[in-house]
Amino acid sequence: MFLLEKTYDFDELVRQNVHTHTVFSKCAKPEMVFEDMIAAAEACGLETLAITDHSDLNDGIDTYANFLILKERLARIDTPVHVLIGAELSAYGVGKYAEPYEVDKALDFASYSHIHYHLPSWEHPEDRSPRGYAEHELQILNALFDTDRSDNIAHPFSPCKMPFFNEEEKTATLAAITDGELGDILAKGERAQCSWEIHTPTFLCFPDFSKRFWRLGKEVGVHFTLGTDAHTLAALDPRPYLQRLKEIAGT
Ligand SMILES: [Zn+2]
Ligand SMILES: [Zn+2]
Repeated sequence: MFLLEKTYDFDELVRQNVHTHTVFSKCAKPEMVFEDMIAAAEACGLETLAITDHSDLNDGIDTYANFLILKERLARIDTPVHVLIGAELSAYGVGKYAEPYEVDKALDFASYSHIHYHLPSWEHPEDRSPRGYAEHELQILNALFDTDRSDNIAHPFSPCKMPFFNEEEKTATLAAITDGELGDILAKGERAQCSWEIHTPTFLCFPDFSKRFWRLGKEVGVHFTLGTDAHTLAALDPRPYLQRLKEIAGT
């Protein structure tokens, strides 16, 4: 379901960060202690902070146990920040999900990755061309939106997660998605009450696609969210990217 109001105003969007990792994610810096993250979020004027630690197949992480721990710690903190305890869940293949449905539904914020192709557990398409990956991504999202699992899509269509492709091939995976396909999947996500993250690293890295994503998303009327994929306290603040985000979106 939608957790945040619909807006196409970047000045509003930079007051949220829906993609952040605590030390429960192995890739986060040791400074990413939950309480310190909330203090940092307050300091940089965030109104909403979503915690989205990784939750991948066979990762040895108990997502539900960590959720309960953070909920308990949150109850002891007095903060004006709206804190959502969620996870970066995995749709690791077409109709394949790493967590049971009940765990997904217990979380405040179920943000789904459909594109962690760098992980050994991830399903790959038979056709390993850029178009093959584009089709596979669309199939995963289509199957996901036939369920009510997802509140948000984390780093949608991000080729950053395809280390086996060079830069040209990564860009080609985005160009391989037609406007018709992109519009259709954005509309289906909206009907499934799922928001689409403007993932600042991807949005800035692939501006041609980002323009299409933003334009078609607005046309369709989707809910956008904003996330920096913060693994450090400094990266919790999206405001340094504000001007560039606006330039790319043409707003
Ligand atoms: Zn990710
Ligand atoms: Zn992440």
